[in-house]
Amino acid sequence: EKNPKIININLLNKFPKEIIDIFNIIEKVSKHRNEKAYLVGGIVRDLILNIKNLDIDIVIEGDAIAFAKELNVFLNIKKIITHEKFKTAIIFLETGLNIDLASSRLEYYEYPTSLPTVSYSSIDKDLYRRDFTINAMALEIDYNNFGKLIDYYNGYYDLINKKIKILHNLSFIEDPTRIIRAIRFASRYNFDIESDTEKFLIQAVNDGFLNKISFDRLKNEIIKILKDKNPHKALNLFEKFNIFEKFNLNIIITPSTYNIFKKVLENKDEIIKNNVKPWQILLITLFRRLNSEDLKTIFHRFGFKNKFIRKISIGINERKIIVEKLKTANKNSKIYFLLNNIPLEIIYLIKYSYPEIENKINLYLNQLQNIVPIINGKILLKNGYTESKKIKNIIKHALELQLDNENYTIKEILKELHEKHI
Ligand code: ATP
Repeated sequence: EKNPKIININLLNKFPKEIIDIFNIIEKVSKHRNEKAYLVGGIVRDLILNIKNLDIDIVIEGDAIAFAKELNVFLNIKKIITHEKFKTAIIFLETGLNIDLASSRLEYYEYPTSLPTVSYSSIDKDLYRRDFTINAMALEIDYNNFGKLIDYYNGYYDLINKKIKILHNLSFIEDPTRIIRAIRFASRYNFDIESDTEKFLIQAVNDGFLNKISFDRLKNEIIKILKDKNPHKALNLFEKFNIFEKFNLNIIITPSTYNIFKKVLENKDEIIKNNVKPWQILLITLFRRLNSEDLKTIFHRFGFKNKFIRKISIGINERKIIVEKLKTANKNSKIYFLLNNIPLEIIYLIKYSYPEIENKINLYLNQLQNIVPIINGKILLKNGYTESKKIKNIIKHALELQLDNENYTIKEILKELHEKHI
């Protein structure tokens, strides 16, 4: 039986008052029930790193559901969701904060299939089932002990030395999602993967364990990586460990992948202003070489809507032709009609892949896409046109005239239309 390393650092005063108040109540309930409560996982790690993190994960040495119900008496709770099978509870507070409570247990499986029912254990065993040493530290919620880090696996040391390290040799095989998580944390904090850990990671990749990750978990990890501030290092590591090659999809990371990532990240604010999510452009960038069937399947499973997927896949397939046509497009209307059916995500992908047409894309993004047609069907009918199949073309022609002649009035457009169509 190992003793934890107890490190005295004053962690308590780092939390905002709102959270300290919650801890006080948890402590009271913990004493009353005679069940210890611990703050665990990412929040402890980020607390030491001085990074804001309000994901309150609590492990109870005992029955987390009964514990949560008792907290209910003292906190302003909006609702509680419980999972009898996993012995977990999520408390949603009126203030918008959530508290996750779990009963300390032996195994980490989010979706246990053939596992025995969860059995309670002590905190050290609960920490042992976690992914990396830096994520396997706890703080006991007890003001006599608080501020003391419970660290059985030298997580504090690894955190200070910027190392991602597994807790035991079979870790990646037990749960291959950790392969992607190792890359995610290494990238996010700019840490190194510890050398033995890296050996086991490479071994697990080469032995084909990536294909055992469920799509949903893979998806969640990838989205988290792409939402991070700087996913460059993740790209590097994906490449270094040949992660994508193992998935049997046509995903290759090229210098232009890095380039597009860089530009998307530099222009995040502008992209968000245009109602586009930067991480979605990055995702499309990674998958831009897929054939359209694979692309559709994957984007569907990433949660994009059908209509949007259809547009993305058309856009991706046609983007080289569009680029060629844009190069010679010498009128606003040409640029407009080449781009106006293409989702903005693809337009950004094009913009950042082909600097030679960036000006034209900017013209579209900043100006042309916002132009409101001044001539519609109603106006045409009032001006002597009759309802017919042709009217659609005439409306389009009117917009073309408007786009190419910035100062045209309605009158002038109608005059030109008249010469052509009547
Ligand atoms: P963040 O939410 O900031 O991305 P996090 O560490 O909170 O980081 P989560 O995915 O929310 O990440 O996981 C919470 C904790 O649960 C982790 O700190 C880790 O201790 C444990 N954990 C999560 N996934 C695994 C896994 N696949 N294997 C082992 N432990 C895991």
